[in-house]
Amino acid sequence: MATARRPGTGTNQEAVRRHNLGTVLAHLHHDGQLSRAELTVRMGLNRSTIGALVGELVELGAVVETAPSERPGGRRPAGRPSLDVRPSSDAVYVIAVDVGVKVLQVARIGLGGDVLQRASGRTPVSHSPAAVATAVVRLIRQIVSSAPPGSALLGIGLGVPGVVRERDGVVRFAPNLGWHDVPFAQLLRERMSLPVLLHVGNDADLGVLAEHTRGAGVGYDNVVFLMGDVGLGGGVIVDAHPLQGIGGYAGELGHLIVNSRGRVCRCGSTGCWETEVCLPAISRALKLDDGELDEVMQRLAEVERPSAALREVGRYLGVGLGSVVNVLNPEVVVLGGLFRALFPVVQAQALQALTDSALEAPREQVHVVVPMLGGDAVLIGGAEKAFEYLLADPARALSEACRDAITATAAPEHGLRDQSRASVPA
Ligand SMILES: [Zn+2]
Repeated sequence: MATARRPGTGTNQEAVRRHNLGTVLAHLHHDGQLSRAELTVRMGLNRSTIGALVGELVELGAVVETAPSERPGGRRPAGRPSLDVRPSSDAVYVIAVDVGVKVLQVARIGLGGDVLQRASGRTPVSHSPAAVATAVVRLIRQIVSSAPPGSALLGIGLGVPGVVRERDGVVRFAPNLGWHDVPFAQLLRERMSLPVLLHVGNDADLGVLAEHTRGAGVGYDNVVFLMGDVGLGGGVIVDAHPLQGIGGYAGELGHLIVNSRGRVCRCGSTGCWETEVCLPAISRALKLDDGELDEVMQRLAEVERPSAALREVGRYLGVGLGSVVNVLNPEVVVLGGLFRALFPVVQAQALQALTDSALEAPREQVHVVVPMLGGDAVLIGGAEKAFEYLLADPARALSEACRDAITATAAPEHGLRDQSRASVPA
């Protein structure tokens, strides 16, 4: 998923150098500040090669070098001091977008993964694709206009609660938005003239990528992320690789059938997991009429003893988890979105139902946790996708980066500058 983090080998010297440049940058992007000496050890390359690679990244504006910092205990490392290298967070950035059924979130995220700035707004109630695209672009403009002049915008990564064809950003089906075959990437491009890469993906796929890279799934090779919102999305990492399926649509765990006598789902089926555990079900259990996300999360935080209705929601959360554990044998299941507030309240019921429904062997191996990235998993995952091109070939990506984003986003609607680059890079 990210650049392989070993020095390149092969006969094409230029390709090896490009690969190594990306690998050095990936270490710094994922782990923050490192000394040249630490990079030398990690990469298994000699000091002069690392010096040259770091020098090129400094020249490109991707990293900065500083005098060695004091180590814990106030001691400087022995021997010739090795310069510290860190990513240029404010100078190299991407935009990440979390398109929710109720709320739109946009963030500017710097190289290294720091959230530098945020904006949010309500998702247009009509859910019309054009209106949603317009609202997203408005938030992107707001964020980009505050970026430092001359800073490099590398790309935009968006998470959508639906089944997405990633190669062209077409949302095949998003039941809770009422979208069928919506060319969402194209709608966004028509509304801004940013000549940067645009990645549209499933929100939970981005969530699992983020938690696996920087959150509760770090160090585990089998991770499931469940994004509870109005619906339920699933993102799955199996043996350290994202589970995709033939069309990239795998992981629609919200449509596991958990109650054949349950409610009709927006997908057309009956008794899907998401109809039993997501916003409408929790709202009903809390006796809220069509509760808003913030309101429901607030109310859940205030619950001292869950009602019978809420305990039933918890039980269904565990019933679905049992199937997930039986099928995927994950080490970690991360409960994101609304489940961050639900799980602590109904943990006993959920884990009991998980115990009752899962086979003992895989059940013994799973940890059920809330995200370490809080509510930012989808945004951070969107950013990771948007940074992939940079980490694959820093020199090329930075030469093509948009350094005039403020002007570009302010351009008149339908002012396309370059559509060709808006698809997946070679
Ligand atoms: Zn369904």
